[in-house]
Parts: sequence; C-alpha cells; structure tokens
Amino acid sequence: MDIKDLEEELKKEVLGVKTLQELQQVKAKYLGKEGKISSAIANIKKVLPEERRDYGLRVNKLKEYAEELIRQKEEEIKRLELQEKLAKEWMDLSVPLEPAYGTYHPLTQTLKRIEEIFLSMGFSLMEGPEIELEEYNFDMLNIPKDHPARDMQDTFYVNKEGYLLRTHTSPVQIRTMLSQKPPIYIIAPGRVYRRDDDPTHSPMFHQVEGLVVDKDISFGHMKYTIEVFLREFFEEDVPVRFRASYFPFTEPSAEVDIGCVICKGEGCRVCKGTGWLEVMGCGMVHPNVFKACGIDLETYQGFAFGMGVERLSMLYFGIDNIKLFFENDLRFLKEFPKC
Ligand SMILES: [Zn+2]
Repeated sequence: MDIKDLEEELKKEVLGVKTLQELQQVKAKYLGKEGKISSAIANIKKVLPEERRDYGLRVNKLKEYAEELIRQKEEEIKRLELQEKLAKEWMDLSVPLEPAYGTYHPLTQTLKRIEEIFLSMGFSLMEGPEIELEEYNFDMLNIPKDHPARDMQDTFYVNKEGYLLRTHTSPVQIRTMLSQKPPIYIIAPGRVYRRDDDPTHSPMFHQVEGLVVDKDISFGHMKYTIEVFLREFFEEDVPVRFRASYFPFTEPSAEVDIGCVICKGEGCRVCKGTGWLEVMGCGMVHPNVFKACGIDLETYQGFAFGMGVERLSMLYFGIDNIKLFFENDLRFLKEFPKC
C-alpha cells in the first residue's frame, strides 16, 4: 500500500475513535507487531535499493506521526471523559434546601411543659439516680418492710444488696431534704420502673415529683399550686377535685381528679363514664418522713405531689396506648411537630 494512502487511512480511523478501548485497537492495527505500519517497515528490505532510502525515511516518519496522533487522541479522550464526569457530579451549592427538622418526642414535649410551668412558679429542678437505695425508695418514705410495694412482683431489684430500680421519683424528696435546708421548692422529673406491662402501663415510665417544705405551709397552698398547674397544663379552666386517699409518705393524702378533657364531663371510654380523670397523688409530708430527714416538725410543714408524665401526655395529646411512646415509629412521632 502506498504510504500516503496508509497515512490517510490511519488519520480517518484515529479521528473516528470515541473511546480509549477503540484507540487501543487502532493502535494495534497500525503499530502492533503485525500492524500495517510495522509491516511497511519490515518491507524496507524488499524495496528496490535505489528507492530504499527514501521509502525508509517516509515510513519511519509515518510511524512517528502515527504515534503522536494516537497520543494526542488519547489525551483528548481523557479530557472529554473528565469533563463529562465533572458535569455529572456537579452540584449547585446555592440551591436552597428543604431542611428536615427533627421534633421533640411527645414525652419530652410534655416534660418540658411541666417543667416550664413549675419553674415559672419559683420551683427548681432536682435529679436523682435511677438505681436507688432501698432505704431512700422505701424506708425513709415511711414504707414499712412488709409493704406489698416492696414485693418482687412489683419492684425490680438489682443484684446488689440494698439497691433497686427506683419505683417512683419520691426518693429525690429524701435526697433533697438530706442535702438542703428549707425553704425547699423543687420538682424532680425522671424515669421510674415497675413490673407492670399493659396498654396503660409500661415497665419504665416517667414521673414528676414535687416537694415544698417551708414555714406555715398548709393544704390550701398545695391545692392552689396543683390547680394552677393543671389549668396551665391543659390550657383550659378544667374542674379539679381532691379525693381523700392514702400514701405512706403523706398525711393527709389525696388523689387529684380533673373533669374529663375528652368528653368535658359527659362520660366516655377514657373516663370510664365518670366524667373525671385521676391525674396525680398528693398530700402533706408525713411527720415520719421529716423525722427521717432531720427536719424540725415544729418549724416546718410541707407538701408533696407526684404525677405520671405518660398519663398527662396521653390525655393532652389524645393518645390511647402507652406503647406508642416507646416504639419509635416515625409515623407516630411526626404527628407531634411542635419543636
Ligand atoms: Zn370522659
């Protein structure tokens, strides 16, 4: 084949190439061992002696030209591939995003609301450990050794003598009175544990404890504090009533009911037709508790109250199964978008 024709053919093929793989094939076709240009070089000796020098120069020049042409093509293909890649991976950093904000868990929202109301009334926050001394959880709260609450059926004991998972937040009362001098105005929110498990009970749940110790404190102060709290919490002028009750650590003791927030007192499934909902327990601090904590009975009086956070949250948001709080189902959690 004429060298000029070979050059034209090579140019056409190299220019038509789209990928590095195709280029490799073209390279092999011309410059490989059996390639067209390699063969032309091998043919030098067959050319007539008088033409051999000229032919040799031209064919070697073609080889150099072919190598350069292929090298340039290779660079071009690589450049194009890079541009394509950059174009594909390009991001516009100035496009405004739709931010996916998280929300507080409904129980956290409820706890925050409870805390805010009491903080606005001058109470402060206290905390205590979840693994608690049996002495603080029961003995010093005037709960005798033979009290059924101490039964293994009701309480989670840990494998260390004298310790348990606290069954209520009331031991924080003891810790506070042992560490602070009156006046005391505290609430203590936190997790508590009991061997209970059904649609309205969970083995782990939350309580908020309240304790006031000061001079000249009466049942009236307690009643007023609780009524103000409940009306603030439910954001309406709910009817509140106190029923005489019994707790070992208070005397006198009362259960607090509010007019059913679901049926407004007409009677429904939630209030079991009574029109009233039990929302917390309370009472004047029992003299035995004061004695155990070294508080002077002649000088000080006090009251305490305790409420279940799940209970209040279920009533406030209209949730009918306590399990929903702990399943972490996003479809449920997204119904509480308040931040
Ligand atoms: Zn009702």
